[in-house]
Amino acid sequence: MASHAKIMPAPAKTRGFVKVTDGIHVFIGGGGTTDFGLVLTDDKPVIIDNDIRVREDFLKGMRRFTRKDAGLVLNTHHNFDHTSDNGYYTKRGAVSFGVELAKQEMRREWDAGIWVKQMAGRGPRVDHLIGKLDISPPMVTFEDQIDIHYGGRHFQMIYIDHCHTKGDTVVWMPKEKVLFSGDLLTYRTHPVNRLGNFMNWIPALDLLKRKFPAKHIVPGHGPLPPRGTKIIDENKTFLARLKTRTAAALRKERSPASAAKLVQMPEYTRWFRAQNVPNNALKMAKDLKKKR
Ligand SMILES: [Zn+2]
Repeated sequence: MASHAKIMPAPAKTRGFVKVTDGIHVFIGGGGTTDFGLVLTDDKPVIIDNDIRVREDFLKGMRRFTRKDAGLVLNTHHNFDHTSDNGYYTKRGAVSFGVELAKQEMRREWDAGIWVKQMAGRGPRVDHLIGKLDISPPMVTFEDQIDIHYGGRHFQMIYIDHCHTKGDTVVWMPKEKVLFSGDLLTYRTHPVNRLGNFMNWIPALDLLKRKFPAKHIVPGHGPLPPRGTKIIDENKTFLARLKTRTAAALRKERSPASAAKLVQMPEYTRWFRAQNVPNNALKMAKDLKKKR
């Protein structure tokens, strides 16, 4: 089966700001690192996710579009590489928004002493921040959905489910039909699933497709995909294959660790973070076992 499957092409190596549509831009992290949204409004700009390690490059790029400080900061989920610079913006007057679960997850990691440390060993480097960086959870939180009207724009922040993390939320701009998916979607970049649940993730992708007639989707990681929702199909095919192959492996090997070693994803070797395959197979095996 796998030997006949099409090898997926390598993603573009873009880094820096890319225009999504009028007044809406995305800073592409490059190499499968995190992407950040920038939406210009009649008032101050709105930013979607942030990372202290990318602050200088992000701000330098943002200054080409506006001299104003951010007015709002929207968090798609709690992970360090999406929220670690909230404090920089809120100290300069921004109001931050996120699902209540994201705030709780930031607090949990802070209390466990792992807030910064868990990022060590991955790029960009984080070691110099260990012991020096506080959390700055979203100031305004919500349970399921919040509608924000600001500077002539309408943002809907909608909690989806526990997929990549407990608090996976999207930012939907209904007028412009732009969806910021957070890490529910990555483009040609292997997902990370340390804290999530693959059993919820696959149906959540169907929900995204049904619920949001998106013209443009901005993923959490990877380059900006072509217009439309094909990125959702690609992510779903990837997860469905991972699930089928892991389930087959679990019929041969009982323990998730042994089963995961049998799982291969040869069509996706050119995607960013291909080294995640063993971890994703192991997590899939554990989630499949739990379901039974
Ligand atoms: Zn991420």
